[in-house]
Amino acid sequence: MSNNQISYSFCESYEDKAVKTSIEKILSSFSDLNEKLKSKKLNILIKPNLLAPRHPDKAVTTHPAVLKAVIEYLKQFDCNITIADSPAGSYSLKVLDKLYNVCEIDKIASGCNLNYDLSDVVVEFPEGKVLKKSLIIKPAIEADFIINVAKLKTHTLTRLTCATKNLFGLMPGVLKYRQHLAMPDIKIFSQMIIDINKYFEGKVFHIVDGIIGMEGEGPSGGEPKFAGALFGGWNPQSLDVLACNIMGMSPDTVPTLIGYKNLENIKLIKFDEIRTYKFNLPPERYKSLPDYIPEFVQNILTEIIVAKPVINRKTCKKCNICVKSCPAEIISMDEKGAYIKSYKTCIKCYCCQEACPHKSIHLSKPLIERVYKIIRKIKTKKS
Ligand code: SF4
Ligand code: SF4
Repeated sequence: MSNNQISYSFCESYEDKAVKTSIEKILSSFSDLNEKLKSKKLNILIKPNLLAPRHPDKAVTTHPAVLKAVIEYLKQFDCNITIADSPAGSYSLKVLDKLYNVCEIDKIASGCNLNYDLSDVVVEFPEGKVLKKSLIIKPAIEADFIINVAKLKTHTLTRLTCATKNLFGLMPGVLKYRQHLAMPDIKIFSQMIIDINKYFEGKVFHIVDGIIGMEGEGPSGGEPKFAGALFGGWNPQSLDVLACNIMGMSPDTVPTLIGYKNLENIKLIKFDEIRTYKFNLPPERYKSLPDYIPEFVQNILTEIIVAKPVINRKTCKKCNICVKSCPAEIISMDEKGAYIKSYKTCIKCYCCQEACPHKSIHLSKPLIERVYKIIRKIKTKKS
């Protein structure tokens, strides 16, 4: 397997022809992938990022034009194609219907199946460092092969969500929230995501939709940002390193990329020069708390270093989604809107901010960051 190869193409818009040309260049550059697709009739699962029912222009989900181009490429082979993902929050037929409709997946799915099978399978991960067993959506286990079509976005918890993090969506519905509660330590949570990727290694080929990505408070509360990037490969972490380069982010600030500092050992096939953009990035979170600091001190520091979710009750539409998405069950509702009952048990997973469809939850500037800004201002005035 050409495990260390990444193929990149610049694509200036979601216009069908331009996307098709780029996707064809990328996919045809992997001879082993094409051999596999030719070898026998495969049941292929396409796994987009369908985090929430948002219009493609919001850049929360994989753009349908990219999925369409991937489907068209696969159709030259004798295969069955199914599109499946488990979004944030509840996983039901009604939710899937809304998701396919609002994300415009139903418009491009001709000749493929849209998944409505809600069942899951317990899977053993003996080689997993933190995850030894998990529920995974059944269509992913039953598929012969998976094409992961991720979206290039910032993430307030993990800094980056791209190829590696997208496979977390193979866990069914609210189990994802429970994993946040079970693994509040960002390094352990990130290792769990790496474990899922290791389990699927060799069975998944990854493509990144970075034509328009997201900056700021991603993965759903940020702003769309043009990057013109489409790229693919077998190794999700290598793809994420390239994603970091494109976004102006240091890979060693992303907890799923520890040990992946640069693109040195990667065979990069560039159909165009790689263009980089300065994304508005979320703060580094995990780096602030090194292991040698005792746990009780870490707890105190967490209070002053780590951003808290803050609900804007003026814009809150009382939809209750954040209440259901909070794994710590600390969000309540009254006549003025949602509110956080107590921050004492908040695990800072930001599931509430990720789930709010009205951008009514933001992250506070941590005390230490505000103090630092004041000091910097005073220093600038003096000089
Ligand atoms: S309030 Fe938000 S950040 Fe805190 S535990 Fe609940 S979902 Fe996570
Ligand atoms: S998800 Fe957003 S809009 Fe809905 S209740 Fe919570 S804060 Fe309000």
